[in-house]
Formats: sequence, structure tokens, C-alpha cells
Amino acid sequence: MPANKRVLVTGSSRGIGKAIADRLKEEGYEVVTHAVKSPDADLHFDIANREEAKRVLEEEVEKNGPFFGIVLNAGVNADNAFPAMEDHEWDRVIDTDLDGFYNVLKPLVMPMVSARIRGRIIAISSVSGVVGNRGQVNYSAAKAGMIGAVKALSVELARRGITVNAVAPGVIETEMIDSIIPEAIDEVKKAIPMRRFGKAEEIAATVSFLMSEGAAYITRQVINVNGGMV
Ligand code: NDP
Repeated sequence: MPANKRVLVTGSSRGIGKAIADRLKEEGYEVVTHAVKSPDADLHFDIANREEAKRVLEEEVEKNGPFFGIVLNAGVNADNAFPAMEDHEWDRVIDTDLDGFYNVLKPLVMPMVSARIRGRIIAISSVSGVVGNRGQVNYSAAKAGMIGAVKALSVELARRGITVNAVAPGVIETEMIDSIIPEAIDEVKKAIPMRRFGKAEEIAATVSFLMSEGAAYITRQVINVNGGMV
């Protein structure tokens, strides 16, 4: 466990983010939780809103110091077949899932570097960004973009001892997958060799490993946690 144990988990009010925050807290990290609407969080801002993210995060670092770990988990989807996709569906997903990477990390990386923290940056991408999913052209683009950003940033920060990795979950049981129509559930499960959806705790276990001292030499990677989908 590093001396500075402060970790920010974005979107940790529910779902995968909450499981990650709970797991890291159990392990003794000082977890700062975040959400946009849910009241139970330490920080509130919309990751798509650059000015708001900058203001809240700069204030947080000013008050409590730089982070050791940053888990970029907050994200949205707005699925639609491409011909029917609305401009607002494209924009919302790109603005949140891809711009969110920049908006959250930009105010936090320099303080981490300046304090010589050999920290951890972990972005929650998706199998959709690895293989491309029907009905998710916007989401696949944003999540694949995130992987490119992770790989480039990892090279920039490697000499500082800061690792940057992506975790790409498959289909995980959270509110996000409530949008799958019940009749399609069996069809979706057939695409998963393990024939079941993943649990948020199974993503949290991978994040916990990447956060640990033992993962100090793992950087620029995409860790797939998907029951064998790819
Ligand atoms: P949920 O919808 O259950 O939770 C999303 C979280 O992100 C909430 O805490 C929510 O806060 C926060 N959030 C959403 N939009 C914003 C925003 N604009 N600004 C700040 N916070 C925001 O999602 P999951 O737990 O299912 O997914 C978490 C991550 O994992 C996402 O990035 C998702 O793309 C990815 N993922 C999920 C998969 C799945 O099958 N569930 C599969 C692959 C990847 P609030 O409560 O305030 O709304």
C-alpha cells in the first residue's frame, strides 16, 4: 500500500463504480466518490462539462492534495441503430465517455506528476470499444477512443512510474444493461462463452489488482473481463 492512498473513482454512486469504490475502501485506500445526480458522493460534477470538472477537481487537489489513483468509470450509453441515431445521442455519448477522459484527467495529471507520485490511472472502457457492437456506433467510438488515449498517455507517463491501463468489461449486471429487452437476453448470453453476465465485483477485482503495488510494471494494456467474449 503506497503512503498516499487517495483514489478518485468517478461514477461511484452505483453499478461498477460503486463496487470498485467499496472494494478499494475495504483494502484501505482513501476513496473519494463521485456522481453527477446521486446525492451520496463526495464530489459532484458532470464529466462532460469541462469547466465544472476543472473547478471541482482543482479545488479538491488544492484542499486535499493530489491523487495516487484515478479510476475513470463514469459513463453513459445511448444505443440506436446507426441510421436511426439522433445527433443528441451521438453527442451525449462522445461528450461524456470520451471528452470525460480529458476533462477529468487534465486537472489531475500534473499535480500527480509534480508530487512525484508513482500513481495509477485506470479507465473503464468496454468490449464494445474493442470489437464494435451493433447499435452502439457512438459508444464503440467513445470507448475505442478511450483505449487510444490510454495507450498514448501511458507512454507519456511511463518514465514517471505512473501506469495507465484500460479495463474492458463485457456485459455486467448493472442498471446500464436494463435497456436490453428481456427477449434479447438469451441471445446476448449466447455470445458469451461462459453463458452468464459478469458481476460488478469481478470488474472491481481487476481494478484492485491494477491499483496494487504488484501491478507496477503493467502499463499501456487493455484488460478484457468478459467471460471469454473476445
Ligand atoms: P451505471 O449507469 O450503473 O452508473 C453510471 C455511473 O456514472 C453513475 O455513478 C452515474 O452517476 C455516473 N455518471 C453518468 N453520467 C455521468 C456524467 N455525465 N458525469 C458524471 N457522472 C456520470 O453504469 P455501469 O456501472 O453499468 O457502468 C460503469 C462504467 O462501465 C461505464 O463507463 C460503462 O460504460 C462501463 N461498462 C459497463 C458495462 C455494463 O455491462 N454495465 C459493460 C462495459 C463497460 P449518477 O448516479 O449521479 O447518475
